[in-house]
Amino acid sequence: MKYDYLVVGAGLFGAVFARRAADVGKKVLVIEKRSHIAGNIYTEKIEGIDFHKYGAHIFHTNNELVWEFLNKYIKFNCFINSPVANYNGEVFSLPFNMYTFNKMWGVVTPQEAMRKIEEQKASANISNITNLEEQAISLVGVDIYEKLIKGYTQKQWGRPCTELPSFIIKRLPVRFTFDNNYFNAVYQGIPIGGYTKLVENLLQGIEVKLNVDYLENKESFDCITDKIVYTGSIDAFFNYKLGALEYRSVRFENELLDIPNFQGNAAVNYTDINTPYTRIIEHKWFTFGKDECGNEIPKTIISKEYSSEWHLGDEPYYPINDEKNNMLYKGYKKLADKETNIYFGGRLGEYKYFDMDQVVASALQFADLELN
Ligand code: UDP
Repeated sequence: MKYDYLVVGAGLFGAVFARRAADVGKKVLVIEKRSHIAGNIYTEKIEGIDFHKYGAHIFHTNNELVWEFLNKYIKFNCFINSPVANYNGEVFSLPFNMYTFNKMWGVVTPQEAMRKIEEQKASANISNITNLEEQAISLVGVDIYEKLIKGYTQKQWGRPCTELPSFIIKRLPVRFTFDNNYFNAVYQGIPIGGYTKLVENLLQGIEVKLNVDYLENKESFDCITDKIVYTGSIDAFFNYKLGALEYRSVRFENELLDIPNFQGNAAVNYTDINTPYTRIIEHKWFTFGKDECGNEIPKTIISKEYSSEWHLGDEPYYPINDEKNNMLYKGYKKLADKETNIYFGGRLGEYKYFDMDQVVASALQFADLELN
């Protein structure tokens, strides 16, 4: 065999595993269907701005091993995510914190805020949490749910909050402090030079072939390698024989503007139901408006994000980990477990709504098991 491992997909999972395998002397080939590495964390330099082509990615983790591992390949800046919510022109601080409660109700102390939420929760009369709406009202009350969650979530997931699992909203912190750091994470930031550079550094010295579709050339690839690490969609691998897993997709409307500042923040969420996009990302603020040499960037790029229904053949973004799809995934997982010498990993391979650090942790864990 020419290779010990064929890694299908040059995203974060594939790149981390390939690095670990190459470091213990394995012969690795990485193939990628797209014309570039880095999967959905790909960033492209435009006018000195690291443009997050497949949507904004903000690295955050509490996992020391993951943080230390990545820091061997790139330095991170100290960007802290503090999105702003715009509800019909009224702006609120996110995640839900004392600034939000103050703006919403005029309350000043944590006790007042808690009382307000308790009152609203009591009048909503929720005894048992079965969906996202009930979960959200229990956490922050009806007003915040109506103005900051309901419309945004419905736009993002294309279905009402009453039909969505409650865990989605639990991703967001609720704080009774004046702290608008979006993530409850010790380590946080954006790779200096962009995510593409991080993946490039991970893949240093490893053979990578772009514009190659594994599934279309399966037989020829299978006979040049001992083992395969497949990070594409698990249902596509099995030719959708149990049915197609569902995703949410995102469409971006990008504009390069000849002004230095469009919205004064990296992310502004439009939380009303009528604005057709969910949020606007202004990419330059992920690097504080400066390029890699520390110069102020004179222009700006904004991306309006439209969440969309996913159809077979579209770019899959968010796995919909509801009961129906999780069951279907279980079916595919059973088939995958029967395969010999092929492993499935990453957001698409494991059909999981993963954050980046979870992807890295999962790749490192797999590498430890597989390579030791
Ligand atoms: N969310 C919301 N209003 C906001 C931001 C988020 O209701 O302004 C909800 C929404 O349901 C979303 C969930 O919180 O799906 C998780 O948000 P997060 O920012 O983690 O989503 P991501 O884009 O990272 O998947």
